[in-house]
Amino acid sequence: MRIVLIGPPGAGKGTQAAILSRRLVVPHISTGDLFRTHASRGTPLGREARRYLDSGELVPDHITGGMVRQRLTEKDTERGFILDGFPRTVPQAMYLSAMLTGRELDLVVELRVSEGLVVQRLLGRGRPDDTEEIIRHRQRVYHRETAPLLNHYKNLLLAVTAVGPVEEITDRVLEGLARRTARPLSAPQDHADRGMSP
Ligand code: AMP
Repeated sequence: MRIVLIGPPGAGKGTQAAILSRRLVVPHISTGDLFRTHASRGTPLGREARRYLDSGELVPDHITGGMVRQRLTEKDTERGFILDGFPRTVPQAMYLSAMLTGRELDLVVELRVSEGLVVQRLLGRGRPDDTEEIIRHRQRVYHRETAPLLNHYKNLLLAVTAVGPVEEITDRVLEGLARRTARPLSAPQDHADRGMSP
């Protein structure tokens, strides 16, 4: 299962990607997490990426693309993946599709939430790039650079209201996915994740 999550910063992409990754048994690949890991380890890539992360700018496509390409050659991605935070620009989407020839995406999920709500959520999160000014800037970058992807992916797109209990949002995604792929989801896994006996 190959899924891309799109949504403004604070829409809950990381939370949903982590749950979907467990439910669908495919890796969760977050470019933000990959960059933060590189930055905290002080690798050359991390040192280069850091100033973009700190200012809320996008890391240039050639750096981001190379890092994702590398990750997508790893064996655990053969069964699929949940991409969280990539692609974030139309050129990145084109690069991704060139990388994935023969491994088409199954679904692109848009997590929809109002700007007022995401700013409140992010202010409560406390990451170094979560000051109000940088948050607002990242929202502008989203509208300018990333929102055009919604049209680019219109044939694969599932728009989900990302407000309310986390599990309900996951259910909306999984129902949309089941409708699109017309494949039943693995019931025991569903039950295990909700803490219910099968
Ligand atoms: P995130 O954890 O997805 O909010 O990403 C945090 C930061 O990492 C962003 O503000 C960007 O600086 C950088 N970043 C993450 N993904 C990408 C991407 N696909 N392209 C460029 N920069 C990215």
